[in-house]
Amino acid sequence: MPDVNEDYALFLDFDGTLVDIVERPDAVAVDAALPDVLTRLQRRLGGALAIISGRPVDFLDGRLVPHVFDMAGLHGLEHRIAGRLSMCDPDEHPALRELVGRLGKIVADKEGILIEDKGCSVAIHWRLAPHEKDFALATAHAAVEALGPDYRVQHGKAVAEILPSAAGKGKVIERFLHESPYKGRRPIFVGDDLTDENGFKTVNAHGGLSVRIGAGDTIAKVRLGTPADLRHCLSTWAFEGILPFKGDDC
Ligand SMILES: [Mg+2]
Repeated sequence: MPDVNEDYALFLDFDGTLVDIVERPDAVAVDAALPDVLTRLQRRLGGALAIISGRPVDFLDGRLVPHVFDMAGLHGLEHRIAGRLSMCDPDEHPALRELVGRLGKIVADKEGILIEDKGCSVAIHWRLAPHEKDFALATAHAAVEALGPDYRVQHGKAVAEILPSAAGKGKVIERFLHESPYKGRRPIFVGDDLTDENGFKTVNAHGGLSVRIGAGDTIAKVRLGTPADLRHCLSTWAFEGILPFKGDDC
């Protein structure tokens, strides 16, 4: 067993970061080697590894069975920190639940627009219907205007999500950094889209390392090309040690 590293805390986005983005969000595929690599890294970091995603925790757990990782789901609305799980209750969001019912009807005749009901948030995807982008964005913003200040729109890649204003990857990473075994460590956060930028902000403020996968404006300090490039780096870190991150060569 390799030495335990107590210097770093590793935070990883899921879609577009650990796995490739696919046209239908429920069709995402996890590389067969990934769960074992993450488990090895988790041990090497003394448990300070967490997945920070917009997906529900249940969904992520299902893709990574039988392994169990710390994680933040729904942009932090639910989380598992040091194995302690805190879930979001959809019953606490009656106005959002009502909206989910209405959205199905609003997009009924829009082929290729997918509504992803996550319980405490809802995402409108237009990856299969790029020409419907303006319609989807207008729908999301009109919905949030009707819901009031307790909700906001989170923009992603070919997706707009309506979620409680309290949610955010930066906030939840901050929360992890106040708890053992994350506390006092240098954070590394790897993400791929707008959703991750406020996570980068938190990590940069803590003197940590922010890593953006792929193209696009970013405040991240280093960039990697693709999820496969990141998986190669994670494997290197898992088997050879947590190295200072230098970019392309991990
Ligand atoms: Mg992502």
